[in-house]
Amino acid sequence: MPTSSFTSASSAVPCPVVESLDAILPEEPLLMMGAGPVPIPAAVAKANAIVINHLGGTMVKVIGQVKSMARYVFQTNSKWVLGVAGPGSAAMEMAISNLAWEGTRVLSIKNGFFSERMAEMGRRVGARVSTLDVADRSVASLEEIAEAIRRERPEIVTVVQGETSNTVWNYHLKEIAALAKAAGALVIVDAVCTLSTMPLEMDAWGIDAVITGGQKGLSSIPGVSLIAFSDAAWERVKGRTAPNAHWCLDATLAENFWHNAGYHYTAPVSGVLALHEALRLVCAETLEKRFARHLKCSLALQDGVAAMGLRLYTPDACRLNSVVGIEVPEGFSPADVCSHISRMHQVEISGSFGLPIVRVGQMGEQCREHNLFRTVHALGRTMVDLGVKVDLPAGVAALERGLSGGR
Ligand SMILES: *Cc1c(COP(=O)(O)O)cnc(C)c1O
Repeated sequence: MPTSSFTSASSAVPCPVVESLDAILPEEPLLMMGAGPVPIPAAVAKANAIVINHLGGTMVKVIGQVKSMARYVFQTNSKWVLGVAGPGSAAMEMAISNLAWEGTRVLSIKNGFFSERMAEMGRRVGARVSTLDVADRSVASLEEIAEAIRRERPEIVTVVQGETSNTVWNYHLKEIAALAKAAGALVIVDAVCTLSTMPLEMDAWGIDAVITGGQKGLSSIPGVSLIAFSDAAWERVKGRTAPNAHWCLDATLAENFWHNAGYHYTAPVSGVLALHEALRLVCAETLEKRFARHLKCSLALQDGVAAMGLRLYTPDACRLNSVVGIEVPEGFSPADVCSHISRMHQVEISGSFGLPIVRVGQMGEQCREHNLFRTVHALGRTMVDLGVKVDLPAGVAALERGLSGGR
């Protein structure tokens, strides 16, 4: 006779004994100064604690506002703004998997770890991906890019605005987009770490798809991301014959939720509300002021680090401001530095995929004076503790000069 009795005594998998979060998390939250996630404003945290119906009038209004604020942040009038439940990489995969398929010619400008991820996503949907391999700590020249476009005749060009891994900034993004456009290719830009930290003008620069995550420049939570398609890109999405193999990432299904108030999958409502608040704060600040704040803070941080006696990883000309790469002194590993600064000074910074650097983020809430002083001090003290000779007071003084405009 079948039985439905369930007793813990007879169950094969015993109930585990776990610690509460209070026991696991540090008493004082760590200051998140790495390459993301970044600290979130109180309004974002508050929104993230709310659950509402994922369909219906309130959500429709929220989604409408998220789209219009996102258009401002992307600087596009395109209708085709969508959200994604998932990390920045899910938005990346949404761009690639909707625009590329078996046989699509994709040219990937490969500056490092994240631009290679876009190329790999292209290969996985069966596209014919060629990469323009760029040496570490540099950007491809426009001549090299033009030549690669002539050679490969791509239908799609992928490029990252800020390559977070080696802290390189593709500063001539606008010109790259123009070259691709002139050759009839669509341009996909990864702006995960840069959006709202530095200028990006989707329409004016002729970009066809821009992706971003929540947890970087926007200072929202990880797990809800944004993507915008140009009209030309949307036409390609709509015109494809074979359906996207990724059901969740299918833009034509996502249109149902993001434009027609219908159901695709249950949206991450709390995360969407958090993103709404993060975008609202960007709008309240304005992009002009936000870019200026990021620039001032990042340059002051770089001055502070250099004045202390540490070396910045990327040359001035193509140095990314959103995430600053700092060489780790001889004899130490990035993990030595990251674990010490975290344990002893409650500041989190990042290593980087095998490179001999640590990275300090300058995205969203990380660009606040009090966070910078604490970080520069903690980094300098970490070096002193590890026995590295640095001039910490000179670093703090340079930071102060940078922040007070006396650079
Ligand atoms: C962080 C980052 C990603 C990946 O974002 P996830 O949210 O970790 O998936 C992609 N590209 C760039 C440039 C990034 O900085």
